[in-house]
Amino acid sequence: MSRTSQAASADVQHADSATRMHAITPETTQIVDMVLEYARRRMLGDDTPLDKPMSPSELRRLAGGSITDDGLGARRALALFENVLAPSCITTDHARYLSFIPSAPSKAATAFDLIVSATAVYGGSWLEGSGAVFAENEVLAWLAAELGLPATAGGVFVQGGTNGNLSALVAAREHADRRRREAGRPRPERWVIVCSAEAHSSIASAGRVMDVDVVAVPVHDDGTLRGAEVATALDEHGDAVIAVVATGGSTNFGIVDDIASIAALKDDRDFWLHVDGAYGLAAALTERARHRFEGVDRADSLIVDPHKWLFTPFDSCALLYRDPARGREAHTQHAEYLDALTDSLDYNPSDYAVQLTRRARGLPLWFSLATFGVEAYRDAIDASLALTERIAAEIETRPELELVRAPQLSVVVFERRGWEAADYAAWSDRLLDDQTAFVVPSSHQGRTNARFAIVNPRTTYDDLVGILDTMR
Ligand SMILES: *Cc1c(COP(=O)(O)O)cnc(C)c1O
Repeated sequence: MSRTSQAASADVQHADSATRMHAITPETTQIVDMVLEYARRRMLGDDTPLDKPMSPSELRRLAGGSITDDGLGARRALALFENVLAPSCITTDHARYLSFIPSAPSKAATAFDLIVSATAVYGGSWLEGSGAVFAENEVLAWLAAELGLPATAGGVFVQGGTNGNLSALVAAREHADRRRREAGRPRPERWVIVCSAEAHSSIASAGRVMDVDVVAVPVHDDGTLRGAEVATALDEHGDAVIAVVATGGSTNFGIVDDIASIAALKDDRDFWLHVDGAYGLAAALTERARHRFEGVDRADSLIVDPHKWLFTPFDSCALLYRDPARGREAHTQHAEYLDALTDSLDYNPSDYAVQLTRRARGLPLWFSLATFGVEAYRDAIDASLALTERIAAEIETRPELELVRAPQLSVVVFERRGWEAADYAAWSDRLLDDQTAFVVPSSHQGRTNARFAIVNPRTTYDDLVGILDTMR
């Protein structure tokens, strides 16, 4: 072979190898089939154990060295995931996963999440993803209507509540800044966010990222932030306040701030009200809990995480602005290569949060809602509220147990009389070791306690009683 035909034949080989991962061949077809079959088994299997973490050295021994020049092949790589990696990940949608906030995606939402990937939808702009953006906005409009926001409200699904809170607060600061400029007033030395002492850690995180002060207002004995204390903070900090954050279901206790009395301050004060409902606001869909969220209709922005209590897989947070222009003014990115997008009047989801490229992460919720309807959501959320009431009543009848606070939503926090931190830790380890349940100890005011967070409609009363029995 001549030098040139040798080079040409090498180029052909390279071309084959360059398209090997993308072309439709027996190899790629088999990979797709294997992966879908695994996903199908996992979604429809009823026997996925809780599982538990492995140590780095164990994982290195069992699964190290998987990245090689020539590849392991899909069969071996998938076996490694199924036999080693997956079992060292706790099953967050297990009925007896009760720590933190569990996940409980509907079958429809999980299955559809595969389609979000398979269709390679770009969710950042109307130009590229109009159908997906339309469907996501249908969900946001439904949420806005449920919560009493005006029909002009809008927003975007972002990765999680931390990003949602940050994006809303950045928009609030932009708004405050503009108004001071328009009034010919200089920036304050420090901007201030007002929230409750029990607000989620992501508010403090936003304060650090934005370099603004977070003023934590003391709560009442029942854990709620109320108007009177917020009024004092507003009087003290004036229009250096970017926003007041009310929590619509604290993560530790599921306690809802007195949003109505805080919102009522708007009658004679001008401030941005942000409601952090990442975990709890879903409960406003039910008759049983709706009254707790009175006043949320006056929010300037709010968030709720579908990956917590609206039954979608990780990760998804719905961020809503009363006036979406506020979000757009703060977040639209300008760049020459984006001119075709920014020069149009289209609804571009990227413009409403700290993000650009985005997965259409509202679509799994859209599909599940469209499939089952809103009533199925109300019923599923209500079931967890009812179960929480029932198990709290059971805890009260047990002499060795004591509620730390009466639950409002679906978190119940209680102490085992006589136990120290080490007792809770040993008990929790034992539950996970024997694969009974995943319940990590929590604490309040320096005292260790046990905490059930219940969002999975498949969690039963017997599941919970069985765990209480292990504390005798
Ligand atoms: C979980 C939670 C957050 C943070 O949401 P992520 O999705 O975990 O980022 C913020 N606020 C509250 C009240 C939460 O429960």
